[in-house]
Amino acid sequence: MSTTTAPRTVADLLAADRAHVWHPYASATRPGPVRLVERAYGARLVLADDPARPGEPREVVDGMASWWAAVHGYAHPALDAAVTEQLGAMAHVMFGGLTHAPAVRLAERLVELTPAGLEHVFLADSGSVAVEVALKLAVQHQRGAGRPRRTRMLALRGGYHGDTSGAMSVCDPVGGMHALFPGRLAPQVFAPRPPARGSDPAAVTAWVDEVRALARDHSDELAAIVAEPLLQGAGGMHAYPAACLVALREIADEHGLLLVLDEIATGFGRTGTLFACDAAGVRPDVLCVGKALTGGYLSAAAVLCTREVARTVSDGEGGGLLHGPTFMGNPLSSAVALASLDLLADGSWAADVARIERGLATGLAPLRDLPGVRDVRTCGAVGVVQLDHPVDVPRATDAAVAAGAWLRPFRDLVYAMPPYVASDAEVATIVAGMTAAVTA
Ligand code: PLP
Repeated sequence: MSTTTAPRTVADLLAADRAHVWHPYASATRPGPVRLVERAYGARLVLADDPARPGEPREVVDGMASWWAAVHGYAHPALDAAVTEQLGAMAHVMFGGLTHAPAVRLAERLVELTPAGLEHVFLADSGSVAVEVALKLAVQHQRGAGRPRRTRMLALRGGYHGDTSGAMSVCDPVGGMHALFPGRLAPQVFAPRPPARGSDPAAVTAWVDEVRALARDHSDELAAIVAEPLLQGAGGMHAYPAACLVALREIADEHGLLLVLDEIATGFGRTGTLFACDAAGVRPDVLCVGKALTGGYLSAAAVLCTREVARTVSDGEGGGLLHGPTFMGNPLSSAVALASLDLLADGSWAADVARIERGLATGLAPLRDLPGVRDVRTCGAVGVVQLDHPVDVPRATDAAVAAGAWLRPFRDLVYAMPPYVASDAEVATIVAGMTAAVTA
């Protein structure tokens, strides 16, 4: 029997991890390798064991920002202080019938920062739950508007929106991570993946025509269009033209559909504007944010909607939005989210994102000429190398760590989205890690 305080060796902890801990998208009986992290600061992770020098810690630059989230880096004094200070007042309290200053102030700040017209905020506890809430809002909105048959979503091939049932139902149904679950999920309507950014305008027109025809054919059963704006993340790191997003807004309006934009990955500056939809001048009816909302400190997400959506949902059957997770509006995560938004307030993130994009674009460009490399692209502080074959993840990860970077390739993609605080030298290390992973 282990205790929580007794010192444990690295080998012992890793053995216990293999025995008991289930990692994301992993086998419990044949788990892949994992590394023990001891500490994190700035853009760096301190791994407990250097594979090249067992027993020695190994510092690596985090190319993943903990999956888009740690935009300000780790152990940031302002974020640490926000959590500590809030802890002195209260760690958590239920949100039914109670409220508190951190949640109220966070809702106000989100309304200020997001596109005009989004006025009501539901504070969810994870990105996937935020997507569930958005889907419910769409269905309840249509019902409240006297269109109860409109319950399906028009989603995009190549999309990724989370791992809960509703969220999975709008993820790519074939190539995505959820192909094992068809038929158990709500049968949504899928439009093709948008053409890649920089495609011929004729390809954009053809795609828009196809989506418009789908929306028309299914208009009496569709509640909303659901999309990640301008960059599809975990469904393929695929950037697409602003014109496609503008067209989705128009098509939604033509058919009385809500436009639900999932900015859980793209939000808070990652693609070069505070929200990706800002770059297209598109305002959604419902917006989901998460991940970087708390600077990656604690799990929290938020769903914002227009006054009109809030009114139809609230005045309709049910008398309000039918959702209420235990940890919604958590004071610690609200406080750290506020501190994170304060750090973004001076706008210096924009120069950092542009600087990181330049570093990634310049550093990765030579990889284009390597055999097996299909494409190299950047989109804000996101760098992607797409191969023409699946990546050997353990080998690629080992090679990246040996080059000084933490990466987590998937499918045919080696990619990075560093914390905005990554220095030029750290970005160069990430590029070296990606190069090593590609050539591994
Ligand atoms: N939506 C998008 C675009 C995402 O990238 C993710 C996570 O990667 C989610 C939703 C789900 O968020 P979470 O993992 O916090 O549930």
